[in-house]
Amino acid sequence: ALARRTYGFVGADIAALTREAALEAVRRIMPKIDLQEVSIPPEVLDALSVESSDFDDALKRVQPSAMREVMVQMPNIGWDDIGGLDEARDRLREGVELPLKHPGSFKRLGIRPAKGFLLYGPPGTGKTLLAKAAARESQANFIATKSSDLLSKWYGESEQQIARLFARARQVAPTVIFIDELDSLVPARGGGLGEPQVTERVVNTILAEMDGLEELQNVVVIGATNRPNLIDPALLRPGRFDELIYVGPPDTAGRRRILAIHTEGMPLAKDVDLQLMARNTERFTGADLEDLVRRAGLTALRRGLDEAQVTMSDFQTALEETRASVTEEMLDDYAKIRDTLKSDA
Ligand code: ADP
Repeated sequence: ALARRTYGFVGADIAALTREAALEAVRRIMPKIDLQEVSIPPEVLDALSVESSDFDDALKRVQPSAMREVMVQMPNIGWDDIGGLDEARDRLREGVELPLKHPGSFKRLGIRPAKGFLLYGPPGTGKTLLAKAAARESQANFIATKSSDLLSKWYGESEQQIARLFARARQVAPTVIFIDELDSLVPARGGGLGEPQVTERVVNTILAEMDGLEELQNVVVIGATNRPNLIDPALLRPGRFDELIYVGPPDTAGRRRILAIHTEGMPLAKDVDLQLMARNTERFTGADLEDLVRRAGLTALRRGLDEAQVTMSDFQTALEETRASVTEEMLDDYAKIRDTLKSDA
């Protein structure tokens, strides 16, 4: 089983893996030990047995040399760090968190969890945050990439990169793979980044990898895009990115929550009324609100470096300097796209 899980490992990587697994076993018995300083006492060595879980941990830690570009992360974003987006969060809880945390229950009931989710909506609304939180709250690893990184002019390079991405994801499963800018996987003449032949090969390789993911293999793929109408329809067929989740700008309550999240730790004067700010920031995205808070802080600093508090007037000044990155027109467009995607589904 370990041989299968070490696809892409060269000899030196395997040597590093076994060494790391042995060190994991030592740390299990003596968590505080500084292995640089101390040699391991013989009685510990005698009691030592390397468990399968030590190899699981070591697999996460040892980065195979041929897969350096595939970074395994453990994000520190949770559901509580995301304001608004209740519906998107609930769907990811049910679609990603439950199956990854309780694969046995799904198997028993014969339910096939979805393998692919597509988050779509304007930039800065929290799509990346949602994918990270889905991974973290599922106690899964997170591997992020964007399609422009997968489009290589060198023949075969893109396919190899995608194969490494999925192989690494299976090695460290449970894993959430996040692919941003999914819309750039359309041929260049269609507004995408790649040469037509390259793009087609990349799409086909991703599809083949997703088709090859057996259900309950504990790998889930989350794609994100600002332009869902450009996505190759082959990517949206059943068994692929077939769970479509719209991620739009937050409502007033969501904005209130996002302002609270981003002002945490900021000394606010008593007159600061975040509810009022939330009401006055129609169509602001999470990223816009984060920027607003930062500007309010800078305005306070400009008054004097000793300034101890950020006041409501700093927020008003910041509000005058910024505006919503999402327009009414964009919202109308997304509403139309939503209808089309729904009727196609
Ligand atoms: P997207 O992937 O949709 O373009 P991101 O998730 O990268 O947007 O958001 C960019 C930044 O904006 C985040 O790192 C976060 O600081 C802030 N942000 C966006 N949406 C939210 C939200 N719903 N709650 C809290 N912060 C948010």
